[in-house]
Amino acid sequence: MKTLKQYFREAVAGRWAIGHFNFSTGDQLRAIVEAAAELKSPVMVGTSEGEARFIGYTQAAALVKSYQQEGHAVFINADHHKSWESAKTAMDAAYDTVLIDASKLPIEENIKLTKKVVAYAQSVNMGIPVEGELGYLKGSSEVQTKVEISTADYTKPEEAKDFVAQTRVDRLAIVFGNIHGIVTEQEEHLDIDTLKKITEVLPGMPLVLHGASGLLAEEIKMAIQNGIANVHINTELRVAYHDMLHKELEEKPKETTPYKYLGPALEEAKKMVKAKLELFGSVGKI
Ligand SMILES: [Zn+2]
Repeated sequence: MKTLKQYFREAVAGRWAIGHFNFSTGDQLRAIVEAAAELKSPVMVGTSEGEARFIGYTQAAALVKSYQQEGHAVFINADHHKSWESAKTAMDAAYDTVLIDASKLPIEENIKLTKKVVAYAQSVNMGIPVEGELGYLKGSSEVQTKVEISTADYTKPEEAKDFVAQTRVDRLAIVFGNIHGIVTEQEEHLDIDTLKKITEVLPGMPLVLHGASGLLAEEIKMAIQNGIANVHINTELRVAYHDMLHKELEEKPKETTPYKYLGPALEEAKKMVKAKLELFGSVGKI
């Protein structure tokens, strides 16, 4: 099996992106893996700190390993891990990669914590890749009405270059108009010029787009054409799964067999993941 780093090299060279989808239950993970397998697409799955606490770090990593043993190109990421302790917990639980998100801290402290995680990651499982984050990404993984954003929160190209040189991260999450979650009373737009400037100073570096739920397909495509090699989707998947589950429970209140009422939600999640993988251009890249 190719490593995640190899897939990222191919994605950057070929201008396509690896999809990243969050999960907190075994059936959600299964939906993502099956969708990717049917399209012969490599895929990343992630757990935030909260999602990981719910399913269990060891359990999440072991489930993903079991799919890898069956030959699936699926990699588990510790998504937005904000402290040394939580990042270390994920690495010790054999996650394939980690996002240390110290973007809320002053840049010097962000660099310091990220460096510490990169140093430790090199000693884990022959070295695992680390993602860093720079810029202030607003919003949360849910449906919101409005989120104030300002260009002052965007990732600054010169800072990004310095951050990567100092921390030696393998990929970088950036902010250029993206917001976490879905906003209903506001149009979300990406600033492709900012992205281009960051790509210019960091040639070959996989850049990560978080908060892609709710963005127009055309904007995501433009971002991928201009250096984004990894796209995170969480809220849209949560909504697809939840809405179908809600409908099932309402329509069949006497159905108590989990695989019967969860099945349609899993299928709905699969459909959504497939549509995204097609948009990201990763179909057939295994
Ligand atoms: Zn994110």
